[in-house]
Amino acid sequence: MSKFWSPFVKDLVPYVPGEQPKLAKLVKLNTNENPYGPSPKAIAAMQAELNDSLRLYPDPNAERLKQAVADYYAVRLDQVFVGNGSDEVLAHAFHGLFQHDKPLLFPDISYSFYPVYCGLYGIRSEVIALDEQFQIRVEDYARPNGGIIFPNPNAPTGCLLALEAVEQLLKANPDSVVLVDEAYIDFGGATAISLVDQYPNLLVTQTLSKSRSLAGLRVGLAVGHPDLIEALERIKNSFNSYPLDRVAIAGAAAAFDDREYFERTCQQVIESREVTVVGLQALGFEVLPSAANFVFARHPHKDAATLAAGLREQGVIVRHFKQARIAQFLRISIGAPEQNQALLDALASL
Ligand SMILES: *Cc1c(COP(=O)(O)O)cnc(C)c1O
Repeated sequence: MSKFWSPFVKDLVPYVPGEQPKLAKLVKLNTNENPYGPSPKAIAAMQAELNDSLRLYPDPNAERLKQAVADYYAVRLDQVFVGNGSDEVLAHAFHGLFQHDKPLLFPDISYSFYPVYCGLYGIRSEVIALDEQFQIRVEDYARPNGGIIFPNPNAPTGCLLALEAVEQLLKANPDSVVLVDEAYIDFGGATAISLVDQYPNLLVTQTLSKSRSLAGLRVGLAVGHPDLIEALERIKNSFNSYPLDRVAIAGAAAAFDDREYFERTCQQVIESREVTVVGLQALGFEVLPSAANFVFARHPHKDAATLAAGLREQGVIVRHFKQARIAQFLRISIGAPEQNQALLDALASL
């Protein structure tokens, strides 16, 4: 703490991202990155941007990328917002849509950035416990609120809430924004973007970090009613006019255009997930049903923190959360087949 700080800074509790170790040879299954590289067309598009044009500012509206997203989802340009990672898009949504008198609702087990943004923007929140099976129960959200946010599939559980249940939430809360954080939707869910024309209170966010393998590029997006998008644009244009650089706009747009590569690599991850689940179950693990590129698993007789430490000694890193309700779980990202096998082998030896 320093006398130079604005007073509220001393009370901030920042988000702690998963470790990015310097050692390259580790089997890194801790931050849900994609084991397959980005689309070769995205790489080529980014390389083509590395020239004299970098002396110029990028398009502040990133229209090339918004158009690619609009084409992909068959929505209009004014229904699309893009930002520097979906974390930034989420931050703008908290700032621009969730600062109300009534509390923001989100599940007790969900993305740990949500309480951080509440702290940053002074938003009151109420956490709603997942049910015994770690599922979101829609009825539990029938209470006064100034907004609802949840990841779908949920993180770190991997569990999917059916689109019909999402729609039930939208219908029951016409006076508040329901934000569906679809960071992992491409690994087994149906996107709620299909509902944006029907529900002006729906905002869907997605990221290119997971299914499009561009975590290092930092690109995320939101789709929703133009009025919601305008709130995000107002915040963005009061904060940073150019959150996406020229390389990011070109690479992200090309990644959206390359459907074939995207669909093929997602399918490979899904197949690897199913193999990994069977392998974990054979070792005695209970694995929650996952529609994401990670699984959430616990062993009935082995302490999760001890297992995570043992894995680490063998060069495999997974994520362990200390939060009481999930302290016996490991969150394991799905890697390439040989990485998943290395994980299973290491667990077998433990
Ligand atoms: C990874 C993740 C994000 C953030 O993605 P970025 O675009 O890399 O900032 C948002 N929400 C959830 C639930 C995530 O797991």
